Amino acid sequence: MKRNTFLKLAALGGLANVVNPQISTATNLSKRKRVRMAFVSDIHIKPTEHAEKGFRAALKSIHTQKEIDFVMNGGDSIMDALNASREKVSAQWEFWHRILKEENTYTWYHCLGNHDAWGWQMKDAAVRNDAMFGKKWALKELQMEKAYYAFTQKNWKFIVLDSAQENNGGYIARIDAEQWSWLEQELAQTPVNLHICIVSHIPIVSFCSALFSDKNEANGDWRISRALLHVDARQLIDLFAKYPMIKCCLSGHIHLQDAVHFKGIQYYCNGAVSGNWWNGSFKGFAPAYALFDFMEDGSVHRELVSYTI
Ligand SMILES: [Zn+2]
Repeated sequence: MKRNTFLKLAALGGLANVVNPQISTATNLSKRKRVRMAFVSDIHIKPTEHAEKGFRAALKSIHTQKEIDFVMNGGDSIMDALNASREKVSAQWEFWHRILKEENTYTWYHCLGNHDAWGWQMKDAAVRNDAMFGKKWALKELQMEKAYYAFTQKNWKFIVLDSAQENNGGYIARIDAEQWSWLEQELAQTPVNLHICIVSHIPIVSFCSALFSDKNEANGDWRISRALLHVDARQLIDLFAKYPMIKCCLSGHIHLQDAVHFKGIQYYCNGAVSGNWWNGSFKGFAPAYALFDFMEDGSVHRELVSYTI
């Protein structure tokens, strides 16, 4: 409401009766909105007709949304490079670029996923000694200088972490020592008037991680693999507690969706663009992306959007 309208209404003495609370809330929300992001994760693109159709449907849907500032890719862009030949990895990245070139007009920021790393599950010496082994190939394709970085939009800082580290013929979810000291520094130098959103491919806090497998252990214990939840979650939670500017943490990886509020931070796990790796829904969650509104006052709103393939 404009100030002069307010004064006129107030002068008429009928303000309480005239103002429609719904309209008034909507106006306040749009005034307070600062950044709008489409969060896409676990696209797992592969050169098949169904995956192509699905990825195009997701991108078309994102382009029907209003006022998007940028797209955040939560990782696992391609189906798999962990255990795939050079030719197969090349074909997946070519497909990725072709579809994006044809369908996308937004700026993208990327987060690396475990499946984007080449050869961690391979013993072939030629692959392991290749200059593109591990994360290097994905970094080149996604034009990323580093696997972790930060940027600011309006009064929000976005910190993108690199969750997956090579481990025992596979991977483990944690940040390494170098990234840890960078993160400490990045948080320490953030002005207190900025709000912070942290993005990691693998969740730091999530109940989805416990529901990924179908069964508990024989003795009833829940089973959460080192590949499904950050193993350094306790240390990260303690670090985050020093910075009340941290409002939310976003992740993908699990292909399930949840929202967990823990110690003043909202943790969102955002499903998968590919759903069940391009085979319908995964445990009841259809292929989806998330729309996030980051508000001026530090609050965050998420809407999950699915699309017909
Ligand atoms: Zn993943």
